[in-house]
Amino acid sequence: MIKGVGKEKRKISKKMLIIFGVVFAIVVSGVITGLVVAGNIKREKEETARIEEEKQLEEERKAEEERRRQEEEEQKRQEEEKQAEEEKKKEEEKKNMPAVSGGNCTISFGNLMLINPNFTVSTDWIDNRKKSLISVSKTYGIKEGKSSNGDNLMEAEAAKHLNEMVKAYEAYNSGHTMVTRSCYRARGTTCGRLCAKTGTSDHHTGLTCDLVDSSYGTDLDTSKYNDHKEWQWLRENSYKYGFIDRFPEAWAGGPMSQPINVDGNGTTGLFETWHYRYVGVTAATEIATGKYNNGKYDSLEHYLKSIKKVSDLKNGKC
Ligand SMILES: [Zn+2]
Repeated sequence: MIKGVGKEKRKISKKMLIIFGVVFAIVVSGVITGLVVAGNIKREKEETARIEEEKQLEEERKAEEERRRQEEEEQKRQEEEKQAEEEKKKEEEKKNMPAVSGGNCTISFGNLMLINPNFTVSTDWIDNRKKSLISVSKTYGIKEGKSSNGDNLMEAEAAKHLNEMVKAYEAYNSGHTMVTRSCYRARGTTCGRLCAKTGTSDHHTGLTCDLVDSSYGTDLDTSKYNDHKEWQWLRENSYKYGFIDRFPEAWAGGPMSQPINVDGNGTTGLFETWHYRYVGVTAATEIATGKYNNGKYDSLEHYLKSIKKVSDLKNGKC
């Protein structure tokens, strides 16, 4: 009987052991499977994230490329626009130049050459003129002042006389230097009564310089500076060196605040205290002493009409 009970018990524990073993195996395999699945999910997630990241990077790269392409296109467009604008300006400049109604005739006057709104020259002539000029800086050491917008070029004979005049001023006003604020100018400017448009500027002649004392700033207010020492001296002495005050106040034709039409009587429409023009000693003396203007300072226009070099100042006829 006892022996039978023991046998029974052993049978049960063997069964339980088997059950336990099976359960354990199931649990272990479940855990392993779980771990494997979790690993796979993690890997998959990582892979997805990596792909996402790559995709994003690729998109960013593409966006950057597109941005750069657009930028380049914009730059190109702007450059083309600028070029077109410049072309248009050139065309406009040509169109705005008064028809050459005999204006070029005065070129043959040599030192008495007349260029103004009624006696104009072509841009080709202006560019060509440059070739025959010399640098007053390189040849004579005459310096350029502030806000100079020219090449400091001049016709050789005029430059030689300019040098003599500058030296004389510097001897008179000891310790001071006279500088140019542009001599020959290829292009005109559009700043109203103080400047001249391309084709109409006395600066195209290569016989002219704007002159200031080196102590002078950049201000161009003539009413304030008309009595500066260098301009007083120039007005009184420049003719001895063949230079004239090209735009004296008396011939401006009216206040500088108002637009002036250059008429047929010799008005210049300009008042530039600093603007000196070479015409040669004989003509300069006759202009400064007013030989044809009742002893008063003449304008180049009026002088040329008086000596019958030009017949019609208003319509640009020699
Ligand atoms: Zn000038």
